Amino acid sequence: MAAIELRGLTKVYPGGVKALDSLDLVVPDGEFFALLGPSGCGKTTLLRTIAGLETATGGAVVIGERDVTGVQPGARDVAMVFQDYALFPHMDVTDNISYPLRIKKVAKAARRDKAAEVGARLGLEHLMDRRPGQLSGGQQQRVALARVMATQAQAFLFDEPLSNLDARLRLEARTFLKKLQRELGVTTVFVTHDQAEALAMADRMAVMESGHIRQIGTPAEVFQRPANTFVAGFIGSTPMNLLDGAVRGDTLEVAGCKVAVPASAEGLLSDGEKIVYGVRPEYMAYSAEPAEGALGGKVAIVENLGASHLVTLDVNDVNVQAVVPEGTEPAVGDDGYAVPRRDRALAYRDG
Ligand code: ADP
Ligand code: MG
Repeated sequence: MAAIELRGLTKVYPGGVKALDSLDLVVPDGEFFALLGPSGCGKTTLLRTIAGLETATGGAVVIGERDVTGVQPGARDVAMVFQDYALFPHMDVTDNISYPLRIKKVAKAARRDKAAEVGARLGLEHLMDRRPGQLSGGQQQRVALARVMATQAQAFLFDEPLSNLDARLRLEARTFLKKLQRELGVTTVFVTHDQAEALAMADRMAVMESGHIRQIGTPAEVFQRPANTFVAGFIGSTPMNLLDGAVRGDTLEVAGCKVAVPASAEGLLSDGEKIVYGVRPEYMAYSAEPAEGALGGKVAIVENLGASHLVTLDVNDVNVQAVVPEGTEPAVGDDGYAVPRRDRALAYRDG
C-alpha cells in the first residue's frame, strides 16, 4: 500500500483544453478518497494521469516513495476500474479476473487459484464460467472489482464505478465497496459526480471545478463549511439557500428581512458590504408565527421528502427553502417563517 501525491499536476490536451491546472493533492496510505465534481471538470483525466494512461503536461505523480511521472502504466502498481468495467466479452469470469496476472506471466494454476479466491470473496463463485454478457450489471461490476483485487496493487483508482447500476443496487454496492476497502486497507481514489456517494463513502474528499480543486476535507467539513458558493451549491441533497445580502450594522439584510450575522462570520464583515448568505434548508427552524431573525413569507411549494417536507417560501420574491419534520408541514398559501441556525449559516464573498 502507498500514499499518492500529486505535485503541480497539469494536463493540457492537444487542442488546448486545460483539464488539470497545477493541482496539488496528497492521499495518505490506506485512505478512501473521493473526488467529486460536475461532468467535464477533469476527474477522469486526473485518474488516468495517476494511472499513466495520460501523460502529464507538467508536475509530478508520486506513489509511495516513487516518482512515477515518466513510468509506463503497467509498472506503476495501481489498478483502475473504469465506468463501463472494460471486461473482455469473450472471456469467462475466471479469465477476466486473472487477466492482469496473465500479463504479469503468473502460471496458469496460480492464476486460477487467485481468481477463485477473489471471486469467492465477492460472491461470484457460482458464476466463474460465465461470460460478461451472461451477467447482470451488478455482477459485472463485481467482476471488475475482483480483477482489480487480484492484482494486489498499491492503490485503487475508481472512475464512477457505480454509475451504471440502478438506484437500489447502487446503494448496496456503495456499502459493499466501502467495507471491502476497509478490509483491504488499499489507498483508493474514487471518482464520482454524485455528492451523496462521496459524502457517504469517503474518509476525505475533494470538490473539483474546471481543473482545480476547490476544497479538500472530511465529508462533514465539506458539508457544514463549504469553502465557496460553488461547493455550497454542489453539496447536499437539497440545495443550500444562497441569498444575496448586505451587512447593515450588526445584522444582515437578506431578502428584505433582518437576520443575524452567522457565527462563523462574526467580526469579519464590514458595514454595507455585499455578501451571499448561505444556509441549508435542513438548518432552518420553521414556524407559522413571526419570529426574531426569521425570513418570513408565503408558502409557495411543499414537497414530500419521505420523513420530512421541503417547504419553499416566497420571501419578498426570493425563494427560501426549509426542511420541516413530517406532520408539521404547512399548506400552500400559509404564512411561514424560516429561522436560520446561526451556528450553521455562512457568509460568502465570492458570489
Ligand atoms: P470528467 O471526468 O470530470 O467528466 P474529463 O477528465 O473527462 O472530465 O474531461 C475534462 C476536460 O478535458 C473536458 O473539457 C473534456 O472535454 C476534455 N477532454 C477529456 N479527454 C480529452 C481528450 N482525449 N482530448 C481532448 N480533450 C479532452
Ligand atoms: Mg469522467
